[in-house]
Formats: sequence, C-alpha cells, structure tokens
Amino acid sequence: MPANPTPTSQKTTSTGLDTYLRDIWRSIRSIAIGMRITLKYMFSRTVTIQYPFERLAFAPRYRGIHEFEAEKCIACNLCAKACPVDCMYIDATAPRKIDPKTQKAGGGELVRFAIDYQKCMFCALCTEPCPTECIHMGKNHDLSAYSRDDMIVEFTDLDKQGLRTPIPLWMKRNADSIPWVGAELERVQRGELATKEADIRPT
Ligand code: SF4
Ligand code: SF4
Repeated sequence: MPANPTPTSQKTTSTGLDTYLRDIWRSIRSIAIGMRITLKYMFSRTVTIQYPFERLAFAPRYRGIHEFEAEKCIACNLCAKACPVDCMYIDATAPRKIDPKTQKAGGGELVRFAIDYQKCMFCALCTEPCPTECIHMGKNHDLSAYSRDDMIVEFTDLDKQGLRTPIPLWMKRNADSIPWVGAELERVQRGELATKEADIRPT
C-alpha cells in the first residue's frame, strides 16, 4: 500500500519558508561581503582627490596641451610632417633660421602656427623631430570650448599676447577662488613653460 502523500498546502508553506530564510541569509552574506570590501579600502591610501580644489600631480611624461616657443620656430614643417592626423598648420613668409647670437629665429615671418585640437590625439610625435626644441607637450588639459573654431588654437596669436599655451576656461573661472589655480594662471600669463619639478608625482 503506497504511503500517504504530503498534503499540497503543507509542501507549499515549507518551500515558502525555505525561500524566505534563504533570502535573509543571502542578504546578510552580501552585506557582510560589501562591508568587508568597504573596510578594506577605508584605511588604504586615497587615490582620488577633490579636484580642482586639490592639485593634480602629473606623471613626468604626461602629455597635455602643447606649449610653443614661437621665437625659436624655423617653420621647417618637420612637426607637421610627423603628425599622423595632419592637424598642424604652419605658414611663413620666407625661410627662417636661428641667429646664433640671440638664439632666436630670424628671416621670414611666422604667419601661422596652429593646432586643431578636434583632431590632435596627444601622441607627442610632433615634438620628436623639432630641431630647435620649441614645441613641447604641456601640463594643462581641459579642451572645452564654445565652438568648433575655438578648438583650433592659433599659437602665433597667443605669442603676440606673450603666451606659450592657451588659458583653459576652468583656469580663468577658478583663479580667484582656488590658490593653486591662480598661481598656475600667473605662470601661463608670464609665458613660462611648465617646470619639471611641478610635473613629478609626489610619493
Ligand atoms: S600630439 Fe600628435 S596628433 Fe597632436 S599635433 Fe602632435 S603629432 Fe599631431
Ligand atoms: S619642427 Fe619645430 S621648428 Fe620646425 S616647424 Fe615644427 S615647431 Fe617649428
């Protein structure tokens, strides 16, 4: 004679209780795992900073917006030829060469030296062949602008203002309220190149 089967209602209640208890256990376990990870990182060294209130430290070979010394450029086009995306525009009225006495380029006028930052990929290949070492990868970033035309930086126009690199929007906006930004803006306005000391990541 076959054994009496378990009543359907009793089986359903038992399965429901099992599921309920299993869900509680899973919740406790997942909270414990999450808290273990949280506690592990709570006391480890912070890798993020409150930018822009705190200053970012760049790696020594960080490649930001270019810095350009127009007075040393001989308009040889070697940088433009090396550029893989053809985003450099150079124009001079006549050949230029460095005067050994002044170490400045003379001859023709450098009419235009521009870089289209819509295309530039910051590969630094343009800096390698430069015979006068007048183009450098800088330390400033943030290419935000209000128009596509503003993304084309006319370095010869900047040179007439005594600048080696454009002044980013964030720098203009935060210079008065954040001390290090104000100091950095003054450096750019003085036409100074980024220093190696400022580039070294603190240990
Ligand atoms: S960094 Fe690279 S892509 Fe940008 S201008 Fe120089 S060579 Fe061209
Ligand atoms: S390689 Fe140097 S000198 Fe020649 S055009 Fe470019 S920036 Fe000027």
